[in-house]
Amino acid sequence: MKPSLLDFTQKELMEQIKPSFRVKQIYGWLYHHYAQDFDAMKNIPKAMKEELSQNFVVNPLRIKNKEESTDGTIKYLLELQDGKTMEAVWLKMKDTQHDTNGIVIQEAKYTICVSTQVGCKVGCTFCLTAKGGFTRDLTAGEIVAQVVALKRDNDHKHNRKINIVYMGMGEPLDNLDNLAKAIEIFKEEEGLCIGGKRQTVSTSGLSNKIDKLGAMDLGVHIAISLHAVDDKLRTELIPMNKAHNISSIIEAVKRFPIDTRKRVMFEYLVIKDKNDDLGSAKKLVKLLTDIKAKVNLIYFNPYPGTEYKRPTRADMVSFQEYLINHGLLCTIRDSKGIDISAACGQLKEKTEGEL
Ligand code: SF4
Repeated sequence: MKPSLLDFTQKELMEQIKPSFRVKQIYGWLYHHYAQDFDAMKNIPKAMKEELSQNFVVNPLRIKNKEESTDGTIKYLLELQDGKTMEAVWLKMKDTQHDTNGIVIQEAKYTICVSTQVGCKVGCTFCLTAKGGFTRDLTAGEIVAQVVALKRDNDHKHNRKINIVYMGMGEPLDNLDNLAKAIEIFKEEEGLCIGGKRQTVSTSGLSNKIDKLGAMDLGVHIAISLHAVDDKLRTELIPMNKAHNISSIIEAVKRFPIDTRKRVMFEYLVIKDKNDDLGSAKKLVKLLTDIKAKVNLIYFNPYPGTEYKRPTRADMVSFQEYLINHGLLCTIRDSKGIDISAACGQLKEKTEGEL
């Protein structure tokens, strides 16, 4: 498999491609025009493009399938050069705001949820991706290409702000080197210019890797998929909890360098009759004492074959009210894409199950 041009920072490309002004032009084609192949790069000499194509591909993936929800969520199945597939999701977080004359006063806000691996080793029992096992890590370029592909497909101009969450298939911290490289490439000023504070690494809680990410000082947010307040249930949901238990994760979070204005997001997947009771809410408050935290309650989204159930709206609201009344910031995540295959791994399962 040839490397992609998206695998490299501009500086790294300048070390491999001369003269440097051509790299600046190529960078523009990649990140401002979302070029898919060398043909699109109109101001690059033909001979240079031929030479480059011997060693690089422009784009390491293609859109194989997509499903659009009525709420604007679009789930993509993406195929890599080796035929492996993974998913990315385009999420509309806020609608466009207009004034009384119909003039746009604020553009719609979007977040892209990207994958970091094909499959996953963590084995969460509520996750379809886990059922397919682990295939391979994504390269930095394959991570970057997801954002380029989705921005292109939605005609989202390169300079329009976008947030990234590393929350698709795979455990990002299990592919830390490529993740860190992708974060740097996204931050490039002449590229997509997506700052660290617009990027959130969501982890199932590899406590030692949380420390490593912290030491890299990339300025990113972290989100922790906590999901349970006692180790017994957490190990049932996330077997890896045996090696990285709740207290080790909480301690690692306390050590993570975080801007004093930022909060650490704790994701809590609420499953009916498993962790939706007020006793769990009380324990959660205790656990997060001393952390500037925000809790995001997520409805479990049932998929065919799962034994877990979606909680009631009333139980979600009581849980949220308990946390808020005890000083925690807490939101209930809108269940985006409920009418499509919104939980990770579902579109892949559906598409490939049909092939
Ligand atoms: S929920 Fe995330 S970490 Fe857990 S198995 Fe699925 S992809 Fe991996």
